[in-house]
Amino acid sequence: MTTWICKTCAAHFPDSVSPPAHCPICEDERQYLGPNGQEWVARDAIETTHANDWRELEPGLAGVGVTPGLGIGQRALLIQATEGNVLWDCVPMLDDATAERIKALGGLKAICFSHPHFYTGMAEWSAKLGNVPILLPEADLAHVMCQTDNIVPWSGDHHEVLPGVTIHRLAGHFEGSSVLEWSHGANGKGALMVGDTIQVAPAAGWVSFMRSYPNMIPLPAREVRRIADRAATLRFDRIYGGWWDRVILADAKAAVARSADRYIKALD
Ligand SMILES: [Zn+2]
Ligand SMILES: [Zn+2]
Repeated sequence: MTTWICKTCAAHFPDSVSPPAHCPICEDERQYLGPNGQEWVARDAIETTHANDWRELEPGLAGVGVTPGLGIGQRALLIQATEGNVLWDCVPMLDDATAERIKALGGLKAICFSHPHFYTGMAEWSAKLGNVPILLPEADLAHVMCQTDNIVPWSGDHHEVLPGVTIHRLAGHFEGSSVLEWSHGANGKGALMVGDTIQVAPAAGWVSFMRSYPNMIPLPAREVRRIADRAATLRFDRIYGGWWDRVILADAKAAVARSADRYIKALD
C-alpha cells in the first residue's frame, strides 16, 4: 500500500496498491493536468529525493517549503504565537528533521488553510505531529482528497484559531478561500497570510483576485469589491502570499485597495 501524490498538484490520496484513476483537483477548471496527462508519484519515492526547506521570515514566523519543488511549489507558514504554533497551508511532505524541529518548538495547535490547492500533505503532517486538528471551512470539505479523522470543520465567515490568530473566509477562488490575520506580525502592525485568496503580483505593491490563476479565469467586479471590502476591515501592514517571493513587506493594505480599484476599472 502506498500514498499516491498527484504529480501536478501534489494532492495526497488514500493508501492503495495502484494509483487512483483521476485527480479531481486537477480536473477542476481551476487547475490543469500536465502535458503527459495524469501522473503519480509514490510518497515513499520522494523520501530520499526531496526535503523540507526552512527559512526564518521574521520573529515568530518561519516558512517551510519542499526542495526541489513539487506540485505547484507553495510554502507553508509556521506562526509561533504566544499560545502555541499554527501551520498555515501545507506542503507535500514532512521530513523527520523538520518534524523534530517543530516538536522542539512545542508542536502544532492547529493546521489551517487558504484553500484546497494547498491541502496536499495535511494528513501526513497532522499524523506525524500527534494528530494535530486540521481546521477546514465546511464550504470546501468536498475538495479533501485524503480523508483523516483529524479534520475539524468550521463554518461562518471567520474563526479564531488562537488569540491573535484568526482566519477570515473571503471566498472568491474557492467558496472557502480564506486569509489569516496574525496580529503580532510585522512588528505588531499585523500580517495577513493570503495563499492565493488575494494573489501577490510580481510588480511591487500590487495584488490580484482570480477564480483561477493558471487558467486566467477572472472574478466578477462585485466579488472583487466584496473581497477588498472585507480585507479593508482587517488590521495588517504586511502580506505573505503562498510562495516564497510573494510578499508585500509594508503598506499592504493600501496595495489591496489600489489593486481592487484597478481591477474593477479594467472590467468596466
Ligand atoms: Zn492533481
Ligand atoms: Zn489555488
